[in-house]
Amino acid sequence: MLGDLPIEIEPEIATQYGVRAAVVVGLILQEPEGIDKSSILRSLPFISRPSLGSVLNRLLDGAVIFAHRANPFIVQQILKSKALSTTGYGRLTCSWCDCQTLVLSNHHFPVPAKEGGMDTVEICSNCHTEYHYLINQPIYRHSRYHHAD
Ligand SMILES: [Zn+2]
Ligand SMILES: [Zn+2]
Repeated sequence: MLGDLPIEIEPEIATQYGVRAAVVVGLILQEPEGIDKSSILRSLPFISRPSLGSVLNRLLDGAVIFAHRANPFIVQQILKSKALSTTGYGRLTCSWCDCQTLVLSNHHFPVPAKEGGMDTVEICSNCHTEYHYLINQPIYRHSRYHHAD
Protein backbone atom coordinates (compact mmCIF):
# COMPACT_ATOMS: atom_id res chain seq x y z
CA MET A 1 0.00 0.00 0.00
CA LEU A 2 0.92 3.64 -0.40
CA GLY A 3 3.31 5.12 2.12
CA ASP A 4 4.54 1.78 3.45
CA LEU A 5 7.80 1.88 1.52
CA PRO A 6 10.53 4.49 1.88
CA ILE A 7 10.43 6.79 -1.15
CA GLU A 8 13.43 6.38 -3.43
CA ILE A 9 14.93 9.71 -4.54
CA GLU A 10 16.72 9.82 -7.88
CA PRO A 11 19.57 12.39 -7.60
CA GLU A 12 19.30 13.38 -11.31
CA ILE A 13 15.59 14.17 -10.88
CA ALA A 14 16.27 16.19 -7.72
CA THR A 15 18.99 18.17 -9.51
CA GLN A 16 16.92 18.86 -12.59
CA TYR A 17 13.41 19.31 -11.13
CA GLY A 18 13.94 19.91 -7.41
CA VAL A 19 13.63 17.75 -4.31
CA ARG A 20 9.83 18.02 -4.15
CA ALA A 21 9.50 16.73 -7.71
CA ALA A 22 11.93 13.92 -6.90
CA VAL A 23 9.72 12.85 -3.97
CA VAL A 24 6.66 12.85 -6.28
CA VAL A 25 8.57 10.74 -8.84
CA GLY A 26 9.67 8.34 -6.08
CA LEU A 27 6.04 7.87 -5.02
CA ILE A 28 4.83 7.37 -8.61
CA LEU A 29 7.61 4.81 -9.06
CA GLN A 30 6.04 2.69 -6.30
CA GLU A 31 2.83 2.29 -8.31
CA PRO A 32 3.46 0.37 -11.56
CA GLU A 33 -0.24 0.71 -12.49
CA GLY A 34 -0.16 4.44 -11.87
CA ILE A 35 -1.54 6.81 -9.26
CA ASP A 36 -4.07 9.66 -9.39
CA LYS A 37 -3.52 13.20 -8.16
CA SER A 38 -5.73 12.87 -5.06
CA SER A 39 -3.79 9.83 -3.88
CA ILE A 40 -0.49 11.67 -4.38
CA LEU A 41 -1.83 14.59 -2.31
CA ARG A 42 -2.97 12.22 0.44
CA SER A 43 0.46 10.57 0.59
CA LEU A 44 2.42 13.84 0.40
CA PRO A 45 0.36 16.30 2.47
CA PHE A 46 3.18 18.88 2.53
CA ILE A 47 2.61 19.57 -1.18
CA SER A 48 -0.31 21.84 -2.11
CA ARG A 49 -2.62 20.95 -5.00
CA PRO A 50 -1.48 23.86 -7.27
CA SER A 51 2.17 23.14 -6.52
CA LEU A 52 1.65 19.43 -7.33
CA GLY A 53 -0.07 20.45 -10.58
CA SER A 54 2.96 22.41 -11.75
CA VAL A 55 5.38 19.67 -10.62
CA LEU A 56 3.38 17.07 -12.59
CA ASN A 57 3.30 19.29 -15.68
CA ARG A 58 7.08 19.74 -15.63
CA LEU A 59 7.59 15.98 -15.19
CA LEU A 60 5.16 15.26 -18.05
CA ASP A 61 7.00 17.75 -20.29
CA GLY A 62 10.28 16.01 -19.47
CA ALA A 63 8.77 12.56 -20.15
CA VAL A 64 9.76 11.47 -16.63
CA ILE A 65 6.15 10.42 -16.14
CA PHE A 66 3.19 9.78 -18.43
CA ALA A 67 -0.52 10.43 -17.94
CA HIS A 68 -2.92 7.59 -18.74
CA ARG A 69 -6.64 7.18 -18.76
CA ALA A 70 -7.65 4.90 -15.89
CA ASN A 71 -8.24 1.27 -16.85
CA PRO A 72 -11.91 0.31 -16.17
CA PHE A 73 -10.92 -3.09 -14.78
CA ILE A 74 -8.39 -1.60 -12.37
CA VAL A 75 -11.00 0.88 -11.13
CA GLN A 76 -13.42 -2.05 -10.71
CA GLN A 77 -10.77 -3.93 -8.72
CA ILE A 78 -10.25 -0.92 -6.42
CA LEU A 79 -14.00 -0.62 -5.76
CA LYS A 80 -14.44 -4.37 -5.24
CA SER A 81 -11.68 -4.35 -2.64
CA LYS A 82 -13.53 -1.87 -0.39
CA ALA A 83 -14.33 -3.57 2.89
CA LEU A 84 -17.48 -1.90 4.14
CA SER A 85 -18.02 -2.66 7.80
CA THR A 86 -21.51 -1.28 8.40
CA THR A 87 -24.82 -2.84 7.41
CA GLY A 88 -26.47 -0.80 4.72
CA TYR A 89 -30.11 0.02 4.24
CA GLY A 90 -32.27 -1.91 1.77
CA ARG A 91 -32.59 -5.45 0.40
CA LEU A 92 -30.44 -5.16 -2.71
CA THR A 93 -26.76 -6.11 -2.87
CA CYS A 94 -24.11 -4.24 -4.86
CA SER A 95 -22.35 -6.65 -7.24
CA TRP A 96 -19.01 -4.93 -6.64
CA CYS A 97 -18.70 -3.99 -2.95
CA ASP A 98 -21.39 -6.37 -1.62
CA CYS A 99 -23.01 -3.65 0.45
CA GLN A 100 -26.73 -3.81 1.17
CA THR A 101 -28.50 -0.94 -0.54
CA LEU A 102 -31.90 0.48 -1.41
CA VAL A 103 -30.92 1.56 -4.93
CA LEU A 104 -28.82 -0.19 -7.57
CA SER A 105 -27.58 1.67 -10.65
CA ASN A 106 -27.49 -0.06 -14.00
CA HIS A 107 -24.02 1.02 -15.07
CA HIS A 108 -22.47 0.32 -18.48
CA PHE A 109 -19.21 -1.55 -17.96
CA PRO A 110 -16.52 -1.78 -19.18
CA VAL A 111 -17.53 0.21 -22.29
CA PRO A 112 -19.67 3.35 -21.70
CA ALA A 113 -23.10 3.48 -23.37
CA LYS A 114 -22.04 6.50 -25.45
CA GLU A 115 -19.23 4.38 -26.93
CA GLY A 116 -21.66 1.59 -27.82
CA GLY A 117 -21.27 -0.53 -24.68
CA MET A 118 -24.08 -3.06 -24.09
CA ASP A 119 -22.90 -4.87 -20.95
CA THR A 120 -24.05 -3.50 -17.63
CA VAL A 121 -23.43 -4.16 -13.95
CA GLU A 122 -25.75 -3.47 -11.01
CA ILE A 123 -23.82 -1.40 -8.52
CA CYS A 124 -24.64 0.82 -5.54
CA SER A 125 -24.77 4.61 -5.83
CA ASN A 126 -21.51 4.91 -3.93
CA CYS A 127 -19.56 2.58 -6.27
CA HIS A 128 -21.19 4.32 -9.23
CA THR A 129 -20.11 7.80 -8.15
CA GLU A 130 -16.63 6.59 -7.23
CA TYR A 131 -16.26 4.78 -10.55
CA HIS A 132 -17.11 7.88 -12.59
CA TYR A 133 -14.82 9.98 -10.42
CA LEU A 134 -11.84 7.60 -10.74
CA ILE A 135 -12.26 6.89 -14.45
CA ASN A 136 -12.02 10.62 -15.18
CA GLN A 137 -8.78 11.14 -13.26
CA PRO A 138 -5.52 11.03 -15.19
CA ILE A 139 -3.30 8.27 -13.79
CA TYR A 140 0.38 9.17 -13.61
CA ARG A 141 2.89 6.45 -14.35
CA HIS A 142 6.68 6.50 -14.20
CA SER A 143 8.41 6.30 -17.60
CA ARG A 144 9.93 3.00 -16.41
CA TYR A 145 6.43 1.50 -16.52
CA HIS A 146 5.25 3.35 -19.59
CA HIS A 147 3.57 1.22 -22.22
CA ALA A 148 0.74 1.81 -24.64
CA ASP A 149 -2.67 0.72 -23.28
ZN1 LIG B 1 -21.01 -0.84 -4.20
ZN1 LIG C 1 -22.34 4.80 -14.92
